[in-house]
Amino acid sequence: MSRIRLTDRVLAARAQRVAMATVRTRRVIEARDGVRVAVEGRVLLNFCSNDYLGLSQHLDVVAAFQAASAYHGVGSGASALVSGHHLEHSLLEREAAEWMGYPRALLVGSGYLANLAVMQSLLGPGDVCVQDKLNHACLIDGARISMCELKRYPHRDSEAAMRQLMSERQGAAMLATDGVFSMDGDLAPLRDLAMLSRSQDALLYVDDAHGVGIIGPDGRGSVAVANLSHTEVPLLVVPLGKAFGGQGALLFGSEALIGHLAETARPYLFSTAPPPAMAAAMRASLQLIRGEPWRRAKLASLVMRFRRTALRAGVPLLESYTPIQPVLLGDNARALAVASALQERGFLVSAVRPPTVAQGQARLRVTLNALHSEKDVDSLVAALAMACLDPTRAEA
Ligand SMILES: *Cc1c(COP(=O)(O)O)cnc(C)c1O
Repeated sequence: MSRIRLTDRVLAARAQRVAMATVRTRRVIEARDGVRVAVEGRVLLNFCSNDYLGLSQHLDVVAAFQAASAYHGVGSGASALVSGHHLEHSLLEREAAEWMGYPRALLVGSGYLANLAVMQSLLGPGDVCVQDKLNHACLIDGARISMCELKRYPHRDSEAAMRQLMSERQGAAMLATDGVFSMDGDLAPLRDLAMLSRSQDALLYVDDAHGVGIIGPDGRGSVAVANLSHTEVPLLVVPLGKAFGGQGALLFGSEALIGHLAETARPYLFSTAPPPAMAAAMRASLQLIRGEPWRRAKLASLVMRFRRTALRAGVPLLESYTPIQPVLLGDNARALAVASALQERGFLVSAVRPPTVAQGQARLRVTLNALHSEKDVDSLVAALAMACLDPTRAEA
């Protein structure tokens, strides 16, 4: 057997991505004003941001960030257990836990880290983690680093989840699911999953990146939509890069679970705590999410408007009632062509391809935003109808 040179492997992989139309490129956002972004000197209407409520540029949030960074400096200076856990972090954790109705919260550097932290600190060899097939990549990666057995059930199939749990009676079990699925926009069957987790002594863990702030009573996300509480969903993560418009993630759970994570989760222990100013900004976001429900209401009405008009125009939508509105195109090259036809017309929409979604499931992932106007939505639908229905235009 001869050694493979990594640089050769990299070049071959690149060539294969070119052949499969799965090359990924970044674009530079030169300026941003709400849903309007400048790319290569042109202003585009952004339909692919997760800043669903537009809070990342809200005056109160920016002001909180500025004031706190002027006072505390930029970096936190250390990991949380050394000397990086500041007053702003602690206030954010307390206020968020109280709002979500959980005994305790823990602020972690990102949603990705939070999911690694949960799985690595709670699971190990001999344990099982049962997950929805469409869960976010970091839940899968978390299970991998924990070295537990990972089982994945067909999307939203709670009976299959039950069978997988029943077939594995040794060791501890966790059932992990997205609350709102990030590429499909649909909701997990949380009531069923809560019931079967209880009957199978599995810990139910929900990642509600695209739910909290956006849906449910008081904006408390998919757990609140399902009318469940912290006893039925003992562990929950809310990444702050989405509706909160910031960076980081909050984990919610019991004193015992969160305490265990704070003392043993390597992705928490060995990573610098987020900037105190970010925590201050996220407290301001939380105030807006709690106190100004009109953003959620406006977003919900834009979702209904988009669906009504797009379906009437023959745009192939999935069954989603959240601001994530996928347009299923199937073929990678077609998704890219439609996205670039839209960009020509002034709309920024991302083409999502494998491995983010399964082969043959390439799509545009349209996300609606509380800062869009009805006119913005109508103009996107008109451009989508043209680009999706006229293949000559789309494949030009
Ligand atoms: C965005 C996202 C994450 C990752 O959160 P980051 O803070 O961006 O690392 C985790 N889970 C889901 C479902 C997400 O959508």
